[in-house]
Amino acid sequence: MRKLAAGNWKMNGTPAALAELTALVTAHPDPACEMLICPPATLIAQAAWAARGSRLGLGGQDCHASASGAHTGDISAAMLKDAGAAYVILGHSERRADHGETDAQVQAKALAAQAAGLVPIVCVGETEAQRDAGQTLAVIGAQLDGSVPEGATAAGLVVAYEPVWAIGTGRTPTLPQIAEVHAFLRNRLAHRIGPEAAGVRLLYGGSVKPSNAAEIFAVPDVDGALVGGASLKAADFGAIVAALSAA
Ligand code: PEP
Repeated sequence: MRKLAAGNWKMNGTPAALAELTALVTAHPDPACEMLICPPATLIAQAAWAARGSRLGLGGQDCHASASGAHTGDISAAMLKDAGAAYVILGHSERRADHGETDAQVQAKALAAQAAGLVPIVCVGETEAQRDAGQTLAVIGAQLDGSVPEGATAAGLVVAYEPVWAIGTGRTPTLPQIAEVHAFLRNRLAHRIGPEAAGVRLLYGGSVKPSNAAEIFAVPDVDGALVGGASLKAADFGAIVAALSAA
């Protein structure tokens, strides 16, 4: 299994930001892990051009479940693929919260992504209130069951555990808490998709930064990270890539 460091630029970045991407591939021409940036959709084609010949992959941050049609403002998986994406983040908690996305919608999008030849990165995670109420595993289990397409393969799926309360807050779960959730996800996935679950990369996401990356990557069943804020600067994301490559 090749570990994955994925950066989510969210709604940040104009062409000037591509200098960070160029700096990243220059500083890390041959990382031992897979390196991925998910810029805004408007930048994917330019990012693909800037990263040509390098080992940096590109992804989208969302896609529509339909291949085409009357869906003003949306983007299809095939359009992302055509622009140069190989992955797409789906069911991020910001999409679930801002757009009311349900597990069923995330699953439909994941199927569309797979049909278009993209690897979906399906996000799951509990709110702070749910963790405080002891509901973390129940919430995550239900999200996983509802969002992951049946028949997913190891190569065709990535799952990201992103506790909502850890995103952009500087707070992270304890290492045993991360270990508990990742072991649970691996096991639950095995019930859903069988032996392929062993090869699905399970990313941790939520305030990963250079100073905590190595200890998080040492947790069993953590196969990489989904990184928001720290992916915007080549120096920070590069340090995370280096930590994952060394793990
Ligand atoms: C994210 O939004 O996926 C994320 C993990 O953000 P941050 O790293 O900024 O917490």
